[in-house]
Amino acid sequence: MKNLIIIGSGPAGWTAAIYASRANLEPLVFEGDEPGGQLMTTTEVENFPGFPDGLLGPDLMERCKRQAARFGADIRSERVDELRREPDGGFAVSANGKMHQAMAVILSTGASARRLGLESEKALYGKGVSACATCDGFFFKGKRVIVVGGGDSAMEEANFLTRFADTVTIVHRRDAFRASKIMQERILKNPKIHVIWNSEVADILGRDEGKVTGVRLRSTADGSEREMPIDGVFAAIGHSPNSGLVKDLADLDDKGYVITKPGTASTKTPGLFACGDLIDARYRQAITAAGTGCMAALEAERYLSEREQDVGSGK
Ligand code: NAP
Repeated sequence: MKNLIIIGSGPAGWTAAIYASRANLEPLVFEGDEPGGQLMTTTEVENFPGFPDGLLGPDLMERCKRQAARFGADIRSERVDELRREPDGGFAVSANGKMHQAMAVILSTGASARRLGLESEKALYGKGVSACATCDGFFFKGKRVIVVGGGDSAMEEANFLTRFADTVTIVHRRDAFRASKIMQERILKNPKIHVIWNSEVADILGRDEGKVTGVRLRSTADGSEREMPIDGVFAAIGHSPNSGLVKDLADLDDKGYVITKPGTASTKTPGLFACGDLIDARYRQAITAAGTGCMAALEAERYLSEREQDVGSGK
C-alpha cells in the first residue's frame, strides 16, 4: 500500500510530486498518455517565472521530472486504465494490467486542446500550426495568421496575436460568434483583425516546404473552396479535459472538468485530489497548473496525517 499515487505528469503533476516527495510520502507517479502534457508540444516558454532567458517546454518538464526524482518519487512511464475506490477508503489503480494500491490519489491528467483533425495539421504542428497564442505568438512577428474558432478562446488568442502579427484573420464556421459580447466587441473594433464567416479550414498548405504557407478554406454555406496565403494557423476550438478516469468519483461540470471544493484541490471523494488543467477551464497556464499541483500535495499530506491519527486512535 502506497501513501499516494499521482496520475499525470504536466506542471501540476510534477509540482505535486516534488512537494509530496519532499514530505517523504514517496509518491508513485504515472506519467500517463502524454508525458509532460501540453508543454511537450510547445517551443519556447518565456513566461514561467525563474527563467529570464526562457526555456523549451520539454526542457521545463524534464527539469521538473528530475526534481521529483531527486526527492524519491517513483516514476513510471505507464498509462492508467482504471481508478477505483476500495471499501477501506483507499484506492486501486490499474496500470498496464497491474494493480497498485494507495491511501490517496492526485489526478493531474490535464486537458487536451481540440485539433481540427487534418493530416496536414499534424504534419505542420510546431511549424506554423499552434494551439496556444500565449506560448507561440512571439514567433509570428510581422506575419499573417489565422485563428480558427468563435468562442472566447478564439477572441482572446486573436487579440493577443495582434501584438505580434501584421494581420489576424478569424475563420469561423458559422455567421455568429459564441464568445461573450464584450470579447466580440473588442475584436470587431480592432483594425488588425478580420473575420471570415461561414468557413472552415479544409487543408493547411506547406507540407513540401516544411512550414505553413497557406490554407484552403471551404465555405460552410455553399461548399466552395479557395486558397489563402498565411504563415500561421492557431486552432482555438476548445479543450477537452481528460476526466474519463474519475467520472464516477468526482463531480464534473457540463464540459467535463472536475469540480473541486471552492479554493481547494479536494474532490467530493475523501482522499481524491485534482489539479491543473483538469480543474481549470479558465487560465490554463503552466504556472497556475503548478500552483494547484502544490495545493493538491499539501492537502493530500494533511489528509494522510489525519487518517494516520484516526487509525492510531482507533476511529
Ligand atoms: P468554446 O466556447 O467551446 O468555443 C469553441 C469554438 O470553436 C466555437 O465557436 C465552435 O464553433 C468552434 N469549433 C469547435 N469545434 C470546431 C471545429 N472542429 N472546427 C471549427 N470550429 C470549431 O471553447 P473556448 O473558446 O475554448 O472556451 C471554453 C470556455 O472557457 C468557455 O466557457 C469560455 O467562456 C471560457 N473562456 C473564457 C475566457 C475569458 O473570459 N477571458 C477566455 C477563454 C475561454 P460553434 O460556435 O459553431 O460551436
